[in-house]
Parts: sequence; structure tokens; C-alpha cells
Amino acid sequence: MKPSSSPLLEPADLALDASGQPASPRYGDVYASRAGALGQARAVYLGGCGLLDTPARWAGRQQFTLLETGFGLGVNFLATWAAWRADPQRCERLHYVSLELHPVRAADLTAHAPAELQPFAAELAAQWPPAVRGLHRIELDAGRVHLLLAFGDATDLAPRLRLAADALYLDGFSPARNPEMWTPELFRALARLTRPGARAASYTVAHAVQKGMSQAGFDLDLQPGWGGKRQRLQATFNPRWKRTRHTLPEPWPAATPRHAVVIGAGIAGAACAQALARNGWTVEVLDAAAQAASGGSAMPAGLAHLQPSADDNLLSRLTRAGMAALRRALPPDAASLARFQPATLTAANAAEARRMQHWQHKVNLPPELAQGAEHGWQVDSAVLANQTVCAAWLDAPCITLRCNATAARLQRDGSAWSVLDAAGQTLARAPQIVLATAHQTPELLAASGLIPGPEWLPLQTLRGQAQALPARFWPALQHLRQPWMGSGYVLRLPEAAAGRLQQTDPPNPQTARDNDWLLIGATFEPAEQPLTSEQAWAHNRAGLQALTTTAPLPDHAGALRHFAGIRAYAPDRLPYCGPLPDLRPLLAAPQRAAGKQLHELPRLPGIALCAGLGSRGLTLAALLAETLVAGLEGTPLPIETDLADALDPARIPLKRLRHPPLPGHAV
Ligand SMILES: Cc1cc2nc3c(=O)[nH]c(=O)nc-3n(C[C@H](O)[C@H](O)[C@H](O)COP(=O)(O)OP(=O)(O)OC[C@H]3O[C@@H](n4cnc5c(N)ncnc54)[C@H](O)[C@@H]3O)c2cc1C
Repeated sequence: MKPSSSPLLEPADLALDASGQPASPRYGDVYASRAGALGQARAVYLGGCGLLDTPARWAGRQQFTLLETGFGLGVNFLATWAAWRADPQRCERLHYVSLELHPVRAADLTAHAPAELQPFAAELAAQWPPAVRGLHRIELDAGRVHLLLAFGDATDLAPRLRLAADALYLDGFSPARNPEMWTPELFRALARLTRPGARAASYTVAHAVQKGMSQAGFDLDLQPGWGGKRQRLQATFNPRWKRTRHTLPEPWPAATPRHAVVIGAGIAGAACAQALARNGWTVEVLDAAAQAASGGSAMPAGLAHLQPSADDNLLSRLTRAGMAALRRALPPDAASLARFQPATLTAANAAEARRMQHWQHKVNLPPELAQGAEHGWQVDSAVLANQTVCAAWLDAPCITLRCNATAARLQRDGSAWSVLDAAGQTLARAPQIVLATAHQTPELLAASGLIPGPEWLPLQTLRGQAQALPARFWPALQHLRQPWMGSGYVLRLPEAAAGRLQQTDPPNPQTARDNDWLLIGATFEPAEQPLTSEQAWAHNRAGLQALTTTAPLPDHAGALRHFAGIRAYAPDRLPYCGPLPDLRPLLAAPQRAAGKQLHELPRLPGIALCAGLGSRGLTLAALLAETLVAGLEGTPLPIETDLADALDPARIPLKRLRHPPLPGHAV
């Protein structure tokens, strides 16, 4: 289902009714029982789903996932989080997913939270996202509680979630006031996300709710009501049919160690390693180079940024989610390695200028994410010190980095993968491999016999060059306040990156004391016909002409530092993120395979890709890593399934099976 094109949602119209209860004039209903929101949360929802039993239904488990319709003021969530925290037998990680069309404001959470839940509400309010359509992940309680807010119309969003719910809270305004929240269609969509045996609870026993739930496969059990209500609904999911098309994500097997080998220590590999480590994995990172961030990520810095579009297209949604994931992934004291600030985005050419004119009337985002300005657009961005960010992500007790280790082949031995070098020696072994090997990925897979040839997961390359220059050598740009992007880009290096440039080998007396540097980029060159560094500098300078026509000082050449790297792109310019398809059975029956959907394709166990990040590695690496790890863990996916499908490595082989290239044509 195509989401609406306007990402900005109308926030909740919260008001107090005559009795001082928080209410919604839009729906003409109160947010919770007049007898008390906390009492209702406990009696109806936690109690109804067996979370106040001893032991509670989450006891002793690795993870437990709750799905809720109607977040409202969040009291059900806060009460669940508090009960989880108080339970010594709680599951290790609590995942709570909630659908909400009209989000309240952060201040409303604390203003209306019951006194004993205030500390929880304050922690939540500090991370509360803007009222923008889509999924917003919030990590709380030192990362042990994950709240996934699904902002938008529940009927549109529920089919685009991927999760396996262990409990279901059906809340929201009453069926009489808000019938859209209680339709048979929505109940069916929720049932597709629910594990057999899961409990569901609701304050309402309206006939339509009972009928819809029953038809969706729930056994109903009406219990004495709470807060003046005669009855409340308790139910158990007990479908009479076998799931065929919509299988549920499986958790990582309890008996298999959470140990992974990540191949590639660029921004993609480092992001995957830190995301795995944050989820309790041990990780061995291998890289062919002598140090991390030596490939495409070897630039001193780069720009992560949101990409607006008139129709809030896939890239806009991905980059928005990417920026949010980046904020989550960076350590709290990251100011020296990452500077979050708006960037100026201007048109690179006439076609883009025409496109951007439409944005004035179409882009509908909060100003802190994107807004029109006198010269172009101001967009949410961050300047990252690539190498220092990679180093920070790899610097964790459960991550081991091994450089000068080139993987030549992967081999499945029993339930684990072995990574072999060119001499056939085992470099590492693990039940899970993550390939973050950029443009070398297709060759490595083909050499391992995992795809018939590199053309089945193609990655094209484009070389790029950028230059760093102490700001004092370009007076017109010396006081540049924020990053600028157009037909080129210029940004001021974060402290950590500037510090690295001062130290050169051999030392350069001209720049040894410079700690204020600009980065100017970047070229896009065929890798087989590289530009000289002089040509690249001329190109990059010319790219700034819309910003300044004044030249740098004549003696700047000796202070310039040149950087070059290779970017890797899939044919559709989107990364490969997710499990590798098992092509053998598909190739054995190609016509049958061509009729399948992406989620029906078989996957090779224990091998996933995070590669082909093109020119958006900094914007997307953290999001791809979170998505990849959620897939391995079987926890709620932080992006909608249409976005995940667009990143699925199986999309290109499937396309090839559906439209085989004509003889003599490569892809
Ligand atoms: C000039 C230039 C400017 C750029 N500017 C920006 C920008 O401003 N913003 C942005 O978002 N992006 C930018 N990019 C793109 C960005 O740098 C890439 O998207 C990103 O670096 C890709 O990261 P990666 O980890 O996938 O690949 P890489 O950084 O290339 O990492 C791959 C790693 O895998 C290792 N490897 C490969 N094969 C093997 C093997 N067989 N065994 C062991 N190790 C192996 C390599 O040694 C390498 O370290 C720029 C790129 C260039 C070239």
C-alpha cells in the first residue's frame, strides 16, 4: 500500500474535559478511563496479557514483543516498562511497538504521566520524535527497552510492519468514536503479526471488536471490567489455519552463540559491528587493509543528510530514518567526531532546480528536518569524521578488529561459516557472517560459489576525489557557517578529523598548526579512467562557483591534501542490506522462482550483506546496521517492509530471474 505523500501528521488536539481528564476534541473521547489511566493500564492491559502473573509471560525470555494500537499519552507503555523493570524475572529485552495517527507532544507525556511513572515519562520525552509519518525507534533503559512508534494510519502501517507480537494491546478511542481503529481489516493485519498463543487485551467488548477479533483467529474470554465497565476483553490468538504467506520473524536460536564475523571495516562494517555489539553479540571484524576505514570510507569527513522530495519518496524516507539511526548510534559524547547542524542544499543543475521548485509547495516536514531558505533548502545533516567514527564504533570490548586479513572465500562447515584466505587457511569462523566489503562483495560471493557470477549481485564503481584545505587559505569560505551542497560540496571538518590532518608524514610545516580545515568535494569518475589530482581539484573548485567566485590564496597548493576512494552502487542505487538469497533452488526452477515474492525466496543461513552504500554511506550505515541486526534477532524491523524490500539483496536476482538478460547483455 502506498503511504500518503505528506509526511507531516496532525498532532493530537489534547484538551481537558469538564472533569479535568485529558481528552481529544477531534474524537470527542477521553484518553483513558476516568477511573485512572494507570489502573486501567494495569488491570486491563498488563493483567489481560498475563504480565502481572507470577511468573509473567515474559519471564526468562531473551525478548518479548508487545504491539499496541493507539499510543495516546503512553501510559500503557510507561506502566509496562515500569512493571518490566520491577520484575526480577523479566525478559532481557522488551520491544514495544505502538501505532498512532495523532502523536501527542513531548511535554504532554510528562504533564499527564501518573506521579510514579514520571521518571519513565521524562526519559521518553527527552527522545520524543517529531510528528512525522513512519517508524521512529527509541532506545530506553540503557538499550534494553526498544519503543517503536509507528506514526500514521494504522490500517496503512500495520501491513508494513515486520515483527512477531507476544502480546497485543488494543487501545485507542472507542469504536463508536473512532471506528477506523477497530475494523476487521486491521484485526487481520494485526493477527498476521501475532504469535500463536499470544494474549490480547482491550477495555472494550463492543460487538464489532468481538466479531473482528474472533474472525481474525482469537479465542475470546470476557472478564469482569475495570473502572465502572462491566466487562473487558481478554483473548488468545489461536488461528485455525496454517500460516503460509506471512511467516513470522524467528528469534536467533537460543543454542547458537551470538557471534559474528564482519568482513570489511569501513563505515558499513563498523556500523554493523557496533549494532551487533549493542545487542549482546561478540564480533570479529576482518579487513584486508592495514587499518579500519581504508576503502571508500577513508575520507577525513563526509556529510550525512536528509534528502527531501516532492512526493516523500523512498530515498527521503530512508535518509530521514538514516539520520535518526545515526543519532542513536553515535556515542553521547560524539561532538568532536560528528557535528549535527542544518546544511544548505542547492540545485546541482537545471533539472534539479526545476525539481526543487516543486518542493516549496510539496515538502511538508518540520523545519528542523527541512525548510526552504533564500538560497536553496536547509536540511537536517551531520558532518562526520569518518575514520574517527569507524574507530569509535569498533572500540568495544566485544569487538575484535583484525587488519591485513583478506577473505578469499567463504565456506559453510556444519552450522558455521569459515572465512578462508587465499592460501585456504581459516581466518575466522562464526555462525553469522556479515559482508561489508563494498565493491569487492560480488567477487567474494562468486569465488565462494554462493552466486553463479558477480552479475547476480552487481556493484558498479565510481571513483571519487576530495580535497582538504586549511580554511585560512580560502578567505571567502573561511567563515562558512554550515555545510553547503550543490554541484559540489564544502564543509568544515569536525575537530577529530582536523586533528588527524595536522599530523602528516612527512610533517608539512605549512599546515602543522592548522586546526580549521575545509573539505571540498567530490568528483565522480569511472574507476578505469581516473582524473589526476590536479584535474580533480579543478573540478571540485568549479563545483563551488555558485557559492563563491573568489579563488583560494595563490599559495594554497602546498597546503592541499588529496583523498580518493571508490564508491559502490547497485544498479538501482540502493544498498544491499539483508540475508543473502539461496540461488541454487531458484536457478533449478527459474520460471517458478520468477513468480515468487521477495519474502518467499529461500535464504542462505547465517550470511547477510551490508554493501553498495554508494554516495550515502554516512547517512545510511547506522540504519542499515540496525535493520540487519533486527532481521537476525527477529525483533521488530525499524523500517517499513516496503523500505526493507527496496534494500533486500534478493531484489536484483529476482529481477534477473523475471527478466533474463538477452544473450550478450550483462545485466
Ligand atoms: C570522495 C568521496 C566522497 C564521499 N563523500 C561522502 C559524503 O559526503 N557522504 C556520504 O554519505 N558518503 C560519501 N562518500 C561515500 C562513502 O564514503 C561510502 O558510501 C562509504 O565509505 C562506503 O562504506 P563501506 O564500508 O561500504 O565501504 P568501504 O569504506 O570501501 O569499506 C569496505 C572495506 O572492506 C574491505 N574489504 C573488501 N574486500 C575485502 C576482503 N575480501 N577481505 C577483507 N576485507 C575486505 C576493504 O578493505 C574496505 O576497508 C564519499 C565517497 C568518496 C569516494
